[in-house]
Amino acid sequence: MVYRRCGKSGIKLPAISLGLWHNFGGVDDFQNSQKILRRAFDLGITHFDLANNYGPPPGSAEETFGRMISSDFKAYRDEMIISTKAGYLMWPGPYGDWGSKKYLVSSLDQSLKRLKIDYVDIFYSHRPDPETPLEETMSALDLIVRQGKALYVGISNYSAEQTAKAAKILKELGTPCLIHQPRYSMFDRWVENGQLDVLEQNGIGSIAFSPLAQGLLTDRYLKGIPEGSRASKAHGFLRPQHITEEKIKKVEALNIIAQERNQSLAQMAIGWLLKDKRITSVLVGVSSTNQLENCLGALDNQTFTAEEIILIDKILE
Ligand code: NDP
Repeated sequence: MVYRRCGKSGIKLPAISLGLWHNFGGVDDFQNSQKILRRAFDLGITHFDLANNYGPPPGSAEETFGRMISSDFKAYRDEMIISTKAGYLMWPGPYGDWGSKKYLVSSLDQSLKRLKIDYVDIFYSHRPDPETPLEETMSALDLIVRQGKALYVGISNYSAEQTAKAAKILKELGTPCLIHQPRYSMFDRWVENGQLDVLEQNGIGSIAFSPLAQGLLTDRYLKGIPEGSRASKAHGFLRPQHITEEKIKKVEALNIIAQERNQSLAQMAIGWLLKDKRITSVLVGVSSTNQLENCLGALDNQTFTAEEIILIDKILE
C-alpha cells in the first residue's frame, strides 16, 4: 500500500480506501463482508468509510463494522482511520436529517454505539443544508471534536464556494477541515472546475467517492446486467436505466485503452484519479475480495502518457 498525506494535516491515508455504502448492510452476507474487510486491512487499507444511513437498512453497515470491531479489529483500532457522516434522512421528525447541531451530535452518538467504538477518526457533514446556517453546521463539527467524539472533521458534497466558506469558519473555530469527499470519476469531473483548487489553497485533502461510477467504469456491464451486480439489486443505487448505450460505448472504448496498458478498466479508472496528487485517496466499494485485489492492482501503474490522456479525454467528451 502507498500512503498519501491528507492536505496539510498530520494524517496519511491509503491511496485506496474502502467504503461500506453497499455490500455491508443487513441485507448482505456477513461472511462475505467479513472476508472483504479482513483482506482489505491485511492489504494495508487502513481507512474504512461509513455513514449513519449505509445499509440497507440504514445503520446496518455501521452495525456490521461494529461486529468486526468485536470479532476481529479491536486490537488494531489504533492502526485504523474510521469515518462516518450525518446529513441524509436517518430518523423521522425534524431532527433526523440535514445539518442542524441537534441532528449531527445525536446522530454521531448513535453511530458510535453501532460501531462499538469510543470515537471516530473523521466525522463528516454529509451534505450542505440550504436552511441551516453554515456556522451552525460547522460549530457542530467543532463541538464534536472538542467532546472527543471525533479526531478530525470533513465535509462531503459541498460546492467549491461552500467549501471555501466552511473551511474559513472551521479555521476560525480552531478545528481545521481535514478532508472533502466529492464524487469524482472519469464520468463525473465537476471537481476539476475549481473544487480541487479550493482544497489545495486551504490545505484540505480529497477522497474521491464512486471512482468506478458504481461499477460502470469496469468490465461489469459490458455484456448486460449480470445477476448479483449492483444494478440488478432492488436496493442498488445504480439503476438499469443508468446503463445507457452511450455510456457502454464509452466504457468499451476505455476498456481497449486499459487492455493496451495491461490493466483492467477498474485499475485504469483508479490510476487516472491518482495521477492528480491533490487526490489523497480513492474510495472504492467492492462486493468481493477478487474485486478488491483487482482494484489494488491500480497502484502498479498510475502514470499516463500525454497521448493516453488526450485519447481518454476525447472518449469522455
Ligand atoms: P465504486 O464506484 O468503486 O463502485 C463500486 C462497485 O463497482 C462495486 O460494488 C462493484 O459492483 C464494482 N467493482 C468494484 N471493483 C471492481 C472491479 N475490480 N472489477 C469489476 N467491478 C468492480 O464506488 P461506490 O459507489 O461503492 O462508492 C464507494 C464509497 O464511496 C462508498 O462505499 C461510500 O463510502 C462512499 N460514497 C460516499 C458518498 C457521499 O455522499 N459522500 C456517496 C456514495 C458513495 P458490484 O456490486 O456490482 O459487484
